[in-house]
Amino acid sequence: MSLWFKSCKRCFLHRSFLRGGVRCLTVVRNKPEEVRLRAAVNRCCSTFQGEVRVRFAPSPTGFLHLGGLRTALYNYIFSKKYGGVFILRLEDTDQNRLVPGAAESIEDMLEWADIPPDESPRRGGSLGPYLQSQRLDLYHQTAQQLIESGHAYYCFCSLHRLELLKKEALRAGQAPRYDNRCRHLQADQVQEKLAQGVSHVIRFRLEAGVQPFQDLIFGWNRHDVAEVEGDPVVIKADGFPTYHLANIVDDHYMKISHVLRGSEWLISTSKHLLMYQALGWQPPTFGHLPLLMNKDGSKLSKRQGDIFIQSFQRDGVLPEALLDITTNCGSGFNTNRMGRRIDELISEFNPSKITTHSALLDLEKLPEFNRIHLQQRIEDEQQCRNLIKELQDQIQQAYPAEIQDKNVLHEDYIRRVLHFRKGHVSTLKELVSPTYSYLWVRPSFSSQQVAALTAEAHLIASSVLKLVKEQGEELTLEHLSKDLKTLAKQTKTTKYREVMKLLRLALSGLQQGPSVAEMMVSLGPAEINHRFQRLLQLSSTS
Ligand code: GLU
Repeated sequence: MSLWFKSCKRCFLHRSFLRGGVRCLTVVRNKPEEVRLRAAVNRCCSTFQGEVRVRFAPSPTGFLHLGGLRTALYNYIFSKKYGGVFILRLEDTDQNRLVPGAAESIEDMLEWADIPPDESPRRGGSLGPYLQSQRLDLYHQTAQQLIESGHAYYCFCSLHRLELLKKEALRAGQAPRYDNRCRHLQADQVQEKLAQGVSHVIRFRLEAGVQPFQDLIFGWNRHDVAEVEGDPVVIKADGFPTYHLANIVDDHYMKISHVLRGSEWLISTSKHLLMYQALGWQPPTFGHLPLLMNKDGSKLSKRQGDIFIQSFQRDGVLPEALLDITTNCGSGFNTNRMGRRIDELISEFNPSKITTHSALLDLEKLPEFNRIHLQQRIEDEQQCRNLIKELQDQIQQAYPAEIQDKNVLHEDYIRRVLHFRKGHVSTLKELVSPTYSYLWVRPSFSSQQVAALTAEAHLIASSVLKLVKEQGEELTLEHLSKDLKTLAKQTKTTKYREVMKLLRLALSGLQQGPSVAEMMVSLGPAEINHRFQRLLQLSSTS
């Protein structure tokens, strides 16, 4: 029998396979070969035979940033790849740190990025509500279950005592931890304090001897939490649960099959598994995504305001470019390439390729990604129509009083500009910047400026008008470049450079920007006509 190792398509763990087989085999000792193999297949894959249900569970203590988007994206791709469900759950248990508007905005941003949840606070779903503050009964009920089975207990230690414990530990050079004193209260003492209304929390009893677990990405892991931590609070004095309890309760009742989250939670997973065990629940499979960092390996800080998704949106970054750059710097694909859209990301995704290395994000490459995706949008007729509308708004906002001829707002004119500039610009915003203002606003120039360049302006202007007329409605770069060169040779006293300067002046009023022929193709015959008529007027009077 020949065996080799790869990841199982059903459970995504690295397993041994019978050559040619698609399901994994775990070799079980002491059984005849056949039975042994079949038992192993069932055992490994049985856990994942149900529906794939994954969740993105941010806390609305801030707006969505790139790190969060990346976690949401991998969950989304994973769910779509395996025909599953993607859930957005808002973990708003830390009521003091809630940021107004963040909850709404997180869901808005997922919709904007085109990775919408199937179940969420806004969309609802059969296993909701999806806002933790609306699920308090469930957490209390679970905490009671833990108390009754002896896995949790009431703690009446005052803040003052906890503060003293902390100070003492720090003074002794140790990490502060709760000393588990209230574990030892007698039942009648507890009842008395509860009856007196003494402020309390509920703590989970951490047991030693944590079982190792296999993380989809980081492999075998185990953190003996009881050795380093005091018993953690699961219900706070304000009646709200802490993250650890709420998280496992919701993952259980929302039937989450795979928890894919940032690797900062890897060390908490053993604690979570102890809770699953105490409650007699089957835990989901865990996969911790490596950190997303700056190109130089430094932390991607939320304080750099520019990593918030809203600021990318404001700057004209396309969602697909953001998803593309985020997956390109990470792992999870057989190969990396620029220009992938969400359907391609889904089809090319391979979870067994996610590595433990941090993903180094080079945001300097974002304009390049955006340029590629903008071009793809322009080439798609439906998306191009939306771009035209957007650009019409932006032009009117940028040049409210300067536009002389409303024809520049016409769909066909803008479509031509977009097709002509695709591959050159990264955002629509660029097209309303001063470099491209000539597209929308006719330049103003004086007869003195014309005279300073050449005495043959009249001749040049009429030649241009003639050649444009000859070329008809469809100007092409190739013909124009050739004809302009010929035209420049016909002038007697003006050098080629001066001719081009004059044409630039008439077309854009600027001395930089795209080539003269490119400007002419973008502007089209009608606009060129207007601008050279003006040159004609000024040169006849000069
Ligand atoms: N609320 C946690 C966070 O914001 C969720 C962690 C998890 O996915 O379990 O990171």
